[in-house]
Amino acid sequence: MRIIIVGGGTAGWMAASLFAKRWAHLPIQITVVESPDIKTVGVGEGSTPTLQQFFKQLNILDEDWMPHCNATYKYNIKFSGWSPDSGIDSYNHPFFTQLDTFTERPFTVNCYTRRLGLDVITQPDTFFFNSYLTEHHKLPYTPDNFPFEINYGYHFDSQKLGQFLMGHAKKLAVEHKLLTVDTVTLTDNGDIKELHGSRGEVVKGEFFVDCTGFRSQLLQQTLGVTFNSFNDNLFNDAAIVLPTQVHNAKFETQSIAMSNGWRWQIPLTHRQGNGYVYSKDFQSPDKAEQELRQSLGLLDSDVEAMHLNMKVGQVNKHWHKNCLALGLSQGFIEPLEATALHLVQISIESFMDRFQNGNYQETDRDEFNKLTKARFDSVRDYIVAHYKLNTRNDSDYWQANRDNNILSDSLLQLLDTWFTNGDVAQEIKTQNAHSHFGNASWHCLLAGYGTFPQLAANQPGTGDQFHEHQLHRFLHGCLLNFNAAK
Ligand SMILES: Cc1cc2nc3c(=O)[nH]c(=O)nc-3n(C[C@H](O)[C@H](O)[C@H](O)COP(=O)(O)OP(=O)(O)OC[C@H]3O[C@@H](n4cnc5c(N)ncnc54)[C@H](O)[C@@H]3O)c2cc1C
Repeated sequence: MRIIIVGGGTAGWMAASLFAKRWAHLPIQITVVESPDIKTVGVGEGSTPTLQQFFKQLNILDEDWMPHCNATYKYNIKFSGWSPDSGIDSYNHPFFTQLDTFTERPFTVNCYTRRLGLDVITQPDTFFFNSYLTEHHKLPYTPDNFPFEINYGYHFDSQKLGQFLMGHAKKLAVEHKLLTVDTVTLTDNGDIKELHGSRGEVVKGEFFVDCTGFRSQLLQQTLGVTFNSFNDNLFNDAAIVLPTQVHNAKFETQSIAMSNGWRWQIPLTHRQGNGYVYSKDFQSPDKAEQELRQSLGLLDSDVEAMHLNMKVGQVNKHWHKNCLALGLSQGFIEPLEATALHLVQISIESFMDRFQNGNYQETDRDEFNKLTKARFDSVRDYIVAHYKLNTRNDSDYWQANRDNNILSDSLLQLLDTWFTNGDVAQEIKTQNAHSHFGNASWHCLLAGYGTFPQLAANQPGTGDQFHEHQLHRFLHGCLLNFNAAK
């Protein structure tokens, strides 16, 4: 069997590496076809902790790949300036660790108590261990006598990660062909039969993986699978990227609200990645670039900015006929929680579980499509909630986001549960929505924005129920087991 992956971006090489590893004992030849002329998207520098599992599956240690990709650890996303009216400057959405099993309950109990109108602390940063690791700039490794696992993601140079994965996949016998796919021929039943390169090359295969980025040459352009845009409640459709020297080397991504969107700050070992994600309906690219430059102190600098358009949404079917789409070709939810590679990875894994060495049934394909669509939808709900709940008043953009009532039933139900003092954990379970953002994440967002039912409106959230749980002492004690990073 020949599996042809078209596209040599991060998605293509992640798929090639995992396929080659899992199917090493089978007669499956994996080929990556990559255009020498079409560039990769060149962004995507933050991950979730699932990338840790990705490298574990490939038996690659942090020290084997991180230095090659200028990578740093990532414990948190810090959201700043999203909800000024609630009196909260910033809050952390951490990756949760085993230690948080002790603190999640006090946190959600406090949130519930405050929803009932009592003045207790609900700032997520004080409850979750990764905020302490970030603040004290510690490494995530612990001695054997402290048996709690720390969950972390990474920041990395996306081009270098692609190169590293290409080298690894080639060691696993993945074939690499440089050619631009020009036309595609189909069999009588509408499957993909072969690819034709712009210089007359022909590539035949039995199964094809579309990793061609936003252009989606195989799934959307050739097989005609339609794309559902999310622009009715995710307004951002463009980004500007501008690197600077490292300013803040903390192991966290910063997500800072701007006049018509937000900007990220990602520390790598050799530079800081910055990008402004915004909506062209509300702000022109020139104005957005000026605002980004100003916020980075680069108004007079000649460092070049890269402008990108974003197609936000997902395809109707992620796997159609003998073609699977992965990465930007299957869909993209804007990068606010850096979920794209996470979705790529879990799509690859659930595809491999169902592919059955090529003997898959239609039911396997349907089940995969249903599951993948639901995952995209549930990540979308979480991202949309950030915009819906903002309390900024500095532009029409923020007002339009707040006023927007085109929300999914699942999100409306979740918000209703929160504001009517219902059981958020139960609602998430009922919706089966915890595959990526579970109970603790939703509480961080809702409490982090300071959005509480009316009863709590006059409660600043500074009461001392935090100390009652003795968590401060507990978390600081745990911190003693970690070494400082340089
Ligand atoms: C502004 C922005 C910020 C982002 N931030 C994050 C983040 O923090 N975290 C995260 O996980 N993700 C992020 N992403 C998403 C992330 O960049 C992508 O998911 C990831 O890079 C994978 O891209 P890809 O491989 O699907 O596509 P690409 O990188 O675009 O690669 C496409 C490949 O297809 C090849 N190709 C295209 N057409 C043809 C053809 N006809 N013939 C042969 N080859 C072809 C190209 O040569 C290229 O190799 C971000 C995206 C954007 C736009």
